[in-house]
Amino acid sequence: MGRLFGTDGVRGIVGLDLTPEFALKLGRAIGGFFGRGSRVLVGRDVRAGGDVIAGALIAGLLSEGVKVYYAGLAPTPAIQYVVKTEFYDGGVMITASHNPPEYNGIKVIAGDGIEIPREDEVKIEELYFKGYGSSLEWRSLAEPPEGVSGVIDRYVEAILDQVDVDSIARRGFKVVVDCANSVSALATPLLLRRLNVRVLSINCHLDPLFPGREPEPRPDTLVDAAALVVSSKADLGVGHDGDGDRAIMIDDMGRVQWGDRSGALLAAYASTKWRDLPRRVYTGVSSSVIVEEYLKPHGIEVVWTPVGSVTIARRMKNEGGAIAGFEENGGYMHVPHQYVRDGAMKLALFLDMMASYNAKSSSLFSKLPEYYTVKTKVRASREEALCAIELLKEHFSGYRMITIDGVKVFGEDFWVLVRPSGTEPVVRIMGEATTRERIEEVVGEVKNVILRCIKG
Ligand code: MG
Repeated sequence: MGRLFGTDGVRGIVGLDLTPEFALKLGRAIGGFFGRGSRVLVGRDVRAGGDVIAGALIAGLLSEGVKVYYAGLAPTPAIQYVVKTEFYDGGVMITASHNPPEYNGIKVIAGDGIEIPREDEVKIEELYFKGYGSSLEWRSLAEPPEGVSGVIDRYVEAILDQVDVDSIARRGFKVVVDCANSVSALATPLLLRRLNVRVLSINCHLDPLFPGREPEPRPDTLVDAAALVVSSKADLGVGHDGDGDRAIMIDDMGRVQWGDRSGALLAAYASTKWRDLPRRVYTGVSSSVIVEEYLKPHGIEVVWTPVGSVTIARRMKNEGGAIAGFEENGGYMHVPHQYVRDGAMKLALFLDMMASYNAKSSSLFSKLPEYYTVKTKVRASREEALCAIELLKEHFSGYRMITIDGVKVFGEDFWVLVRPSGTEPVVRIMGEATTRERIEEVVGEVKNVILRCIKG
């Protein structure tokens, strides 16, 4: 049996592996999964091929007797919010999130707004590979797809409900927004205007060629936005990814802050405002140990999970909730709003925190320790990677360790994570320490162990 879904939906290069023929067939399999008469909401980001894929996918859904509602361009979290609150049986988002411009993808959303779990992906793959197709009589194919409007407005209203609009509005913040030339441009500036924020936008015109920057928000892709924060004396900057479910913050000193740092601050703040939530957060093993160091004194437990937002979301929901779930890549799940990553929600919550504490963004981040970070990789086959992880477990025996996804080692003055990549033949190494020399020393030690498993 072949596999279609990766860690976050089906991804491929438009026209090469992600063709209209493929989308049609996958649409039929997804339609077979949701079933005849089910209601499915479809949306897309700005990417090239989005219209073609949407058209073919919708034809596939319709031919299985699904009632299709089409929202057009919208951030992924807007589609997820409307699927959940307006009782759709499911949703499909056409997006490749942060991937390079030539990619597109298809993400399937369950009726609760969260991406479907792996076992449901397997059901769709089975339908796809066995050439599933129901033979409906002509009367069952009489319904056209229905356009749905107002999705973004309803989503923005829902975010405003989560924050103290008056207290944010009184501050008259100035915020730089980098929309990655995609669908965040339709929601974030609108949200900020409602919060009386002066918006300076960069890369906020829609363009499937992504002329401004790569769609992944990182320190090296947010250089222009960070410079604008400093030169315009803005209070905060934010960089979204291609489908608006991530937000990377830039403080007023122009420092780009990874999502584990902003996530830790936001979760501690949210725990003071939503006091009934279970006092724990979920985060991937790729997050810094700073998360634990900062949240433990607040009486908040940190649950480490394998890397991947769907795992975090599903576990939080199945295990009785949490204050939040977040990732170092900028994904933040504000549980009172929805159990999925939401870039605009994260930004609104950050402004709520700044207004509530009457604090500059840079002084909020200064509450966190500064560590030196190293992120690198070594070419290795899957077998070599697994061998290296076993050797590392022996090498660091006696240390506190998490082994749910590769191996994460907690030292006195460092932490390091080694895990096989899900998408390329490499082992990824990331770690932090209080000094640059120390983390370089640890990573050097790790590399030496890995090399013992590399053949040739
Ligand atoms: Mg995304």
